[in-house]
Amino acid sequence: MTQYVIIGDGISGSSAAETLREEDPEANITVITDEGEPLYNRILIKEHAKGKLPEAPISIHDEDWYDERDIDLSLNTHVTSVDTGAKVVHTHEGEDLSYDKLLVATGGTPTQLPVENSDADGIHHFWTFEDARGIRESAEQAETGVVVGAGLLGIDFAAVCGAQDVAGKYLMRGDRWWRYALSGDGAEIIHEGLREKGVEPVFDSGVDRFEVDDDGHVTAAVDPNGDRYECDFAGVAIGLTFNTEFLRGAGLEQNNGIVVDEYMQTNVDDVYAAGDITRFYDVLLGEQAQNGSWGSAKEQGRVAAVNMAADDEAEVFEWVSSYSITHFDFPFLSFGHPTLGDEHAERRYSDTEWRRIAFKDGKIVGGVLIGDLSPQSKFKQLMREQRVVADQADVLLEQSVDLDDLAPAQSQEQ
Ligand SMILES: Cc1cc2nc3c(=O)[nH]c(=O)nc-3n(C[C@H](O)[C@H](O)[C@H](O)COP(=O)(O)OP(=O)(O)OC[C@H]3O[C@@H](n4cnc5c(N)ncnc54)[C@H](O)[C@@H]3O)c2cc1C
Repeated sequence: MTQYVIIGDGISGSSAAETLREEDPEANITVITDEGEPLYNRILIKEHAKGKLPEAPISIHDEDWYDERDIDLSLNTHVTSVDTGAKVVHTHEGEDLSYDKLLVATGGTPTQLPVENSDADGIHHFWTFEDARGIRESAEQAETGVVVGAGLLGIDFAAVCGAQDVAGKYLMRGDRWWRYALSGDGAEIIHEGLREKGVEPVFDSGVDRFEVDDDGHVTAAVDPNGDRYECDFAGVAIGLTFNTEFLRGAGLEQNNGIVVDEYMQTNVDDVYAAGDITRFYDVLLGEQAQNGSWGSAKEQGRVAAVNMAADDEAEVFEWVSSYSITHFDFPFLSFGHPTLGDEHAERRYSDTEWRRIAFKDGKIVGGVLIGDLSPQSKFKQLMREQRVVADQADVLLEQSVDLDDLAPAQSQEQ
């Protein structure tokens, strides 16, 4: 009987466990997590922090779900090391668990700002349900807030400030929000949305140090220009540090993440990885890539499990991810790899509608849609088909995209 061990019970680990049980009904399956609760919806915890959603709908599985599938779940258990030669996983409680096949699905931990007082009371990072509970409580009592990190997670902190009536300053490094994926035109729509929520974007800023009171609670952030912003709440979202410390000496190839092929296999026999932690071979992009999104992590877990159970390269991971933001009156969606590409096309349609498409070698590799998400399925289809369309960007920027207006794919190759 095959023994599978999965480290991590986020969406990638949990989806792998579910698939393994379907693919291999007789196997022993163990899922280990250092969190105190089984899988919950990490995407929804921001709504809890905003004060909008009670706890119950955020939970996805209870412990019975694992029992019913005869999956052994170890909560509050931290894996301290893996011996890939002896095929044994060691936990902080001194337990040794043997495996035939191992899945590493341990994601990341928010990176702390390397500045004075960055661990003060009232300064928050956002990854777990426990974090969300703390953020909610702290924001409910706060009057002024500071947010650092001009990306997809930082904006969740800004939305928490807005929803909890905390007067926020959003300190950004460059001249706009998510400058790697948005131009000034697109970002301005987001800036306006933030202002309407009572959060003021501050550009060419950041945090040089935090100030604290006698009780160690944050009172202000001072930016590199010497400007001081009073705050009794602060949210820091400057990136993720991948949870790979326990893999020291395990021989797994890493490159800011665990390197896997399109089958989710690492370079070490019988060790697979899935989810945020992977640097995977993206067959659509034709190169290694990374992707921090829920749908992609879920699919990677499923594909890894199919290949683990088949003991073969049975299924390739091929996926166009998307990530949406619902904090504003207008919708926002990024898809694929919007920060990559060698060519871009964009257009602004109104005060709340904008579109940008990223191309690599003439093919769509990602993009951002604000205000009107209707072209997303067409753009994703073109990505999957790997069609060369950059020279027909005008068709893709029409308000209503009609793929029939594109030159036939075959004639382009002649
Ligand atoms: C606030 C927030 C909002 C988000 N919003 C969106 C969104 O709108 N759309 C979207 O697509 N994505 C969103 N994401 C990102 C998405 O949630 C992640 O991409 C996804 O959850 C990654 O899943 P994962 O299974 O790879 O990793 P994780 O969910 O991070 O799970 C890894 C698990 O492994 C555990 N672990 C780590 N090390 C060990 C160890 N040594 N021993 C035992 N256990 C360990 C961790 O505690 C954790 O439970 C959001 C994330 C956050 C935090």
